[in-house]
Order: sequence, then structure tokens, then C-alpha cells
Amino acid sequence: MSYGFDTLQIHAGARPDPATGARQTPIYQTTAYVFRDADHAAALFNLQEVGYIYSRLTNPTVAVLQERIATLEGGAGAVCCSSGHAAQIMALFPLMGPGRNVVVSTRLYGGSITQFSQTIKRFGWSAKFVDFDDLDAIEAAIDDDTRAVFCESIANPGGYITDLPAVAKVADKAGLPLIVDNTSATPYLCRPIEHGATLVVHSMTKYLTGNGTVTGGVVVDSGKFDWAASGKFPSLSEPEPAYHGLKFAETFGPLAFTFHGIAIGLRDLGMTLNPQAAHYTLMGIETLSLRMERHVANAKKIAGWLETHPNVEAVTYAGLPSSPYAGRVKTVCPKGAGGLFTVTLKGGYEACVKTVDSLELFSHVANLGDTRSLVIHSASTTHRQLTEEQQVAAGAAPNVLRLSIGIEDADDLIADLGQALEKAHQ
Ligand SMILES: *Cc1c(COP(=O)(O)O)cnc(C)c1O
Repeated sequence: MSYGFDTLQIHAGARPDPATGARQTPIYQTTAYVFRDADHAAALFNLQEVGYIYSRLTNPTVAVLQERIATLEGGAGAVCCSSGHAAQIMALFPLMGPGRNVVVSTRLYGGSITQFSQTIKRFGWSAKFVDFDDLDAIEAAIDDDTRAVFCESIANPGGYITDLPAVAKVADKAGLPLIVDNTSATPYLCRPIEHGATLVVHSMTKYLTGNGTVTGGVVVDSGKFDWAASGKFPSLSEPEPAYHGLKFAETFGPLAFTFHGIAIGLRDLGMTLNPQAAHYTLMGIETLSLRMERHVANAKKIAGWLETHPNVEAVTYAGLPSSPYAGRVKTVCPKGAGGLFTVTLKGGYEACVKTVDSLELFSHVANLGDTRSLVIHSASTTHRQLTEEQQVAAGAAPNVLRLSIGIEDADDLIADLGQALEKAHQ
């Protein structure tokens, strides 16, 4: 039986608790699990039997969340971890090694730009930043040491949609996995695997949980990539010395990446999601489609209103007919362009800061994807560590505000923006 999205977001992965019949998924607040006997313990450690050993690796509450997100994304399996940034490291970890690189889009969440341009160098990895509208440039950046291509679907800080089918084609031709950060779109608006993505990562901190209570991440594997074809991914295709010579691709087939993520990634990197956080995210996902519909409707209305405001220079929202990326919405995220966009103010940096300080209903926070509306001046905060050139490339120039439109009454949000813009230009 195949169910629709609204049904799966509530039921996928969950079943009444076998011990008590509890209808809601219990929070299994336990570190370890009792082995039936010594043979059972050995089978679990050999990965010959799937079960629970220790909550750094697996936990029943987290497992329900993993299955639910894998289902919603159309993937074979998923591994939850402690944050969106952890998910990015967990996605790259089995693929990379010293001297290897990843080709990434310039249009990324500010923290991802820092993670890729600076921090991963400590592992001997590197990132090559490319304008992903230039497919030839992506192809030219790929070399013998490239192990993955990485982009966001609806890219932070909003207004940009990556042409996923075209980028997937480039990655495919080079025999490389495409990793898509689907945080801003969620599987309700965009399903990257259907467009050719190999892996999908999320910051569950944002729309999946949806109300600003949790830090979490997830890596979803499509199960479709042939890890053995090129010899470039020995950790998955060859005997893995970190797991007594186990060959993950041969042993687990489409679940190779998922099992590797648990048996080696979580075991040794330890970026584990806790069961309480998994519970909050499961609660959030139950209403994902309802929230995303309202986020999109509100964003459309507010972006359209802002576009005609005399103190506004430009609005970049792909859901507006004026957007150069409006055409991509139809193919990449047909249910809408999300709830994030940027607005460029007349009056530059000064007007931006004054507007932020005058807003009453919008909260000035470094977050997005909350039920409540949020605003940030990226250039002075999240994108502060970047050069002005990087800021502009990332859509976070000094005269730009990023709005994360919540699910309140659109008219109240418009009234709040109206009074703040007026104050900023007095
Ligand atoms: C927030 C965010 C991240 C990082 O996620 P954390 O949960 O904060 O670690 C990565 N990518 C995108 C698009 C994000 O919005």
C-alpha cells in the first residue's frame, strides 16, 4: 500500500509500542540494551543481526525518526545526528580522505561556507566553491580527487533554487555522488532524490522540528549509488579496517551508506541525536505539510507586498513571478518556493539595522524555519566571518535582510514590517 505525504508524515516508521501498546512513540531514555545471551551480543556486534546495543549507535525513538524521514525523502535509509552541521560531516566522512575535495555551490548557509572553506581543511579535505548556475564551471572544478558535489535545493538565504536535475547530470557524468542540503525546502516542497541526488542532508533544527526547540540533523541515502563502480570510495567498497574488514557495499547493498554511518560514523565521531530531541522532531514532522503550506502562502503574500514598498529596492523570492528562478520552482519544488527570502533596503546597512531594531512581531535571531517569523541582518551576524565578496555571492550583502516567514496571520506580519520600514526611513 502506498500512502500520501500527509499520511506518511504521521505514520511512517511508527507502530504501537510492542511492550505497552502506547500509540505515540515512546522516548526510550536509555543508554544501553540488555543482550539476550552471549550469541545475541556477538551477532549484534558483527552486524549479522539488527538490534540495539548502545544509544551512541542506535535508539528506538531515533530509529522511528530515521525511518520516517527516509520515507518522506524517498530514500533507502537515514542516519540522524546531533545537528545539521554534524550531518554534513557525516555525509562527507565515508567519501573523503586527506587530499580529497568536494565541489560546492557558493550559495550556502553561512555556517556551511565556513565549515567547508576553513574547518574541513583540518581533516586534509578541501572545498572548491563554484557558481552552480554555471554547469561548465562545476564540470571544470571536478578533478581526480573530487569525491562529491554539494548544494542546497532552495538555497539559504532564500530566493535561489538550484537546478537539481542539471547539477545531478554533471555529478552523474563524473561518477560522483550529489549531496543536497534540503533544509529550507523540506521533503514536502522538494524531493532531491527524485531529481538525481545521492544523499540528502537536513538541519532538523529548522522546518522539520519547526518550532525552534531542537538542534538536530539527518543524512538520507537514496540507496542508488554504486559505491564500487569507480574504486573512489574504498571505505564503502573495500574491506573496511575500522570494522574488521567488513565490505559495506557488498554486505548491505542499498543500505551500505546507512550502516556505515551508524557502525563507523556514529560509533567513532559520536555526533549522536538524543531520544528527547528525536521525540520533538517526530512531533514537528506530524504537521510538516500543513506548516509548509502556510509558510509558503504567507511568504508569497509578504514578498509581493514588500516588492511594491517605496523603501524597498528588491525582493528575492523565487515564488514571485519577477524572480529569475520562478521557472525552476515548477520543476524543483512545485508546491512552493519556501518561507525564506531576502529584501534589499534603500538606505543600505543603516536602514537594515534600524528596521531590525524596530520590528516587534519578528524576532531578531540566528535561526530559520520556526512557526514564528524571524529576521536577521546576515552581513552583521551569520555571514560576518565572510569577506564582502563571499557575502554578496551568498546573497547576504550589507544592505540585505533575511526574513523567515512564520505561520502567523500574514496581515499582522505586513503591519509589523510596515511600521518598522517607516521608522527606519524617518
Ligand atoms: C541551519 C542550517 C545548517 C546547519 O544546521 P545546524 O542544525 O544549525 O547545525 C545547515 N544548512 C542549512 C541550509 C541550514 O539552514
